[in-house]
This record gives sequence, structure tokens and C-alpha cells, in this order.
Amino acid sequence: MHHFFVEPGQIQGGQIRITGPDVGHIRNVLRMAPGEMVLISDGAGRDMLSRISRIGTDEILADVTGEEEGRELPAQISLYQGLPKGDKLELIIQKAVELGAVRIVPVATENAVVKLEPKREANKRRRWQAIAESAAMQSKRSLIPEVARVLSFKEALEDAAGSDVALFAYEHQKGMAGTREELARVAPGQRIALFIGPEGGFAPQEVLQAEAAGFRPVSLGKRILRTETAGLALLSILMLQLELEGER
Ligand code: SAM
Repeated sequence: MHHFFVEPGQIQGGQIRITGPDVGHIRNVLRMAPGEMVLISDGAGRDMLSRISRIGTDEILADVTGEEEGRELPAQISLYQGLPKGDKLELIIQKAVELGAVRIVPVATENAVVKLEPKREANKRRRWQAIAESAAMQSKRSLIPEVARVLSFKEALEDAAGSDVALFAYEHQKGMAGTREELARVAPGQRIALFIGPEGGFAPQEVLQAEAAGFRPVSLGKRILRTETAGLALLSILMLQLELEGER
């Protein structure tokens, strides 16, 4: 079933008004007709089965016929990703959205090679947000994860303050005991912050700052993972763990 997002204000009295680029897409590309069913999410966690009742030039009307069970993970995971080289962040955003992250925060860590000028950052951010939106639609998320503005490492630590579980993947962390302990603390209802270093890893003072802020270093095993692999590996583990706990 085709899936669209609307703002909560576009839903009134059991009727949904679809506007913007989705109108042309539904009418001209998908060639849908009144009577056909669509899945509509309000971007705030509500999924509605809806029947198209009218297809106009500027808007499409659909009637809500039922609510769908939410598809979000039972915890809110934010991925704080050290800015990687090239277009890697695009892949990371797409996969992080599929794996259930609610927020992706690019972080200008000391060893991040990429430095973005404000104008370039604004363009990039628009593109990153569009990637998050399309990944949210494809994976039938109930909300569109936010790609935040690029934060400095200090800002990122402040941003993540108050998380129930705050982890940073650290390739020099010895053994898996800490990882086992931290994974055992993960539970539904939590806010979880995951920090991943860029290609060059975290700088020594960043490791100290993170530890001082209460972040726990976790090893992802004995192999050195690329920055784009590390976050997705950790997210995958948490996703499955939370899905399994949600079924208990
Ligand atoms: N420059 C580092 C080196 O050569 O030793 C490698 C950095 S790694 C490519 C990029 C990031 O991925 C790291 O900062 C860390 O967050 C994460 N990472 C990669 N492998 C990891 C592992 N085995 N355990 C924990 N984190 C890992």
C-alpha cells in the first residue's frame, strides 16, 4: 500500500487533506483513483488506513477507515555521527532511518576531515532530510526522523544530556564486558544516544569529555569497522533487542 505523510493539522474529523508534491505523484505517477486505499502517517506516530474520496488539482481528500498498529521502536534512538567523508552520511542516514533511529545528528568532531561552509551545510541538510523522508516512507515508519544541524562535539554532548543510555563506540575499548553491561541496560521507553567517530576516530580529549559527561565506551568487537558500518551495526543490535523485548 502506498504510504504518505501529512501534518497533524491536515487531519480533521476523520478526513485527511493531502497537498503539495504528493498530489501530482498520486494523480499522475501512481494514477490512483477514488476508492483506493493509502496508508497515511501524521509524522507524530499515528498511522491511518484511508480511502481516497476525491482527487483534485491541488489537493486529494481521503477518509480515515482505521488505525494501524504503530511501527516505531519502543525507544528513541539518536545517532550522533562524526562527519564522514564524501557522500557517506547519505547512506548512514538512509540505513539509520530503516533501522529505527528517530534523529541523526552530524557531529563536527576534531578528526572529521569534512568542514562544511554554512551555505553548503544548508543545502546538504535539505538533501539529508529528503533522504530521511524517503527512507521513512520506504520503510513505513510512522514518523520522519529529523536530521539535525551539524553540531560541534561539545554541543552534541550537551544535546544528548539526559539520555537514559549514552554510548560511544570506541575501537580501543578492551573486551566486551562493558558492551554486554550496556546492552543489558537498554529497555523500552528510553532515550538512547549513540556516538560514532569519523574515519579518524575520536580525539583523546573527546574520549575524556564523553566519559566526563557520563557516556560509556563500547567495543563492537576486535575488528575496526568503517565509520559507516559502526553506527549501523550498533543500531541493528539495539533494533533487534528492542523488537524482541517489545514482544515479551
Ligand atoms: N582511526 C581509527 C583507527 O584506525 O584505529 C578507526 C576509526 S573507525 C574507522 C571510525 C569509528 O567507528 C570509531 O571512532 C568508532 O566510533 C567506530 N568503531 C569502529 N570499529 C569499532 C570497534 N571495533 N569497536 C567500537 N567502535 C568502533
